[in-house]
Amino acid sequence: MADEHRDLDPRDRGMAPEPAVERAAPPCCPYAAPQIRPAPAVELRAAAGAAPGDIAIIEGVEIAQVVQSLDNDVPLIAGKTTIVRIYVDPQSFTAPAIVTGEIAWRRGTGGWSFLPAMNRVDVGPAVASDLHDRRHDAAASLNFKLPADAVREGDLSIRLNRLMVPGGADVPFDGLGPTADLPGVETALTVSFRGAPVLRIRAVGLRYHSVRDATVITPDATHFAHLRSFLVRTYPTAEVEWSQIVVDGDNLVPQVAGGFPAFQSNLVNAQLLAIRAREVASGRDPRTHYYGLVDFEGGSSFMRGAAIYDEMTEVFGPVACGPCGVPSFWVWDTDPTFADWYGCHELSHTFQRRHPGFPPANQPPDPLEKTWPYPGGFITDNSVAEQRKHHVGFDVGDPDLGLPMAALPGSVWHDVMTYADRQWMSAYTFNAILDQLLHEDAVLAPQIS
Ligand SMILES: [Zn+2]
Ligand SMILES: [Zn+2]
Repeated sequence: MADEHRDLDPRDRGMAPEPAVERAAPPCCPYAAPQIRPAPAVELRAAAGAAPGDIAIIEGVEIAQVVQSLDNDVPLIAGKTTIVRIYVDPQSFTAPAIVTGEIAWRRGTGGWSFLPAMNRVDVGPAVASDLHDRRHDAAASLNFKLPADAVREGDLSIRLNRLMVPGGADVPFDGLGPTADLPGVETALTVSFRGAPVLRIRAVGLRYHSVRDATVITPDATHFAHLRSFLVRTYPTAEVEWSQIVVDGDNLVPQVAGGFPAFQSNLVNAQLLAIRAREVASGRDPRTHYYGLVDFEGGSSFMRGAAIYDEMTEVFGPVACGPCGVPSFWVWDTDPTFADWYGCHELSHTFQRRHPGFPPANQPPDPLEKTWPYPGGFITDNSVAEQRKHHVGFDVGDPDLGLPMAALPGSVWHDVMTYADRQWMSAYTFNAILDQLLHEDAVLAPQIS
């Protein structure tokens, strides 16, 4: 057949394939021919007693949502964004290399699913060996973002399926390996996810007239968006039921001398309480907490925040308010607003959280806060000798707001109930808010007739 045309295949003719050569892309081709560089061979240190051959040591795994220890002792909330952090001992490698990995996960005794790492980590003699230091850097662990199916209520098992040089050889490893039903002897890590109630927040922006030029001061949308995101990232819940409105503030008048009067937040809370009573009477869920935002007019009209508190019953009410604006006073906060952690502090009062008394010069301790566990108001007890028990904060970030994922050292970050810089949610506050959410969910649920 003269018109039959087939591309030549070297195997048809018993020829060795031609070596790949670098060549210019033809003009019609949108891609240049790739230049493949073989992945470097990884040299591992021989581990004492390890057989057969050399292995990389897996030092630990942390299942991070908000704050966690290497013992994974902070409850995991079903449905919440969850990052598995796996620590590979960089000193297992005798030369610099980059490794990545793949985990296998399963629910109960179901089938295994496979998940690639989000990143790659540097290993080798030059990489800091201290595991505790590497926990403080989100880029120093192999990170895996669990899919929704993996974080449902119940048990989840995780093992490391592969450790490898990207595009190169698999690296043998020890720790977190295959389970008994698969080749190998190591066991998988099993953790449990629990359900948590919905957090219901009604955010109310309050307008007022500037005392200087009578312009109307209204909180920008960014303050609402960042507060909502901060609550999603820090609170022990998978779901924030959020709504927001802006209303004229009653009796919201800044002083000519600057700032609002000291009692201003009480007036705002009274207005919020009235709005809430009206809305709950017309059908809004009674488990809804209200938070008022008052823009601080670039710093000239600052309103100190507060939550409603009943001295007789020693119980906080479901209403609080606070200032919002660009965090020029708080340089540690590099995002566009301080409404995020400030609002989290005030709203956490409405979940019965109290001041632990840090820093001592600025915040008197609440005498009813009797079980505060962390010296210095940090998010962990840094005096505990065994560092794997130290809690490290973990911010999963928010791509919608340009907020990166970050690990937050417990020796630097303070609990949201302090007045200290660098505020994040500690395990103590996280657990207490979870208890209160569960309590309100049971006691305040709307009657079903
Ligand atoms: Zn902020
Ligand atoms: Zn407070």
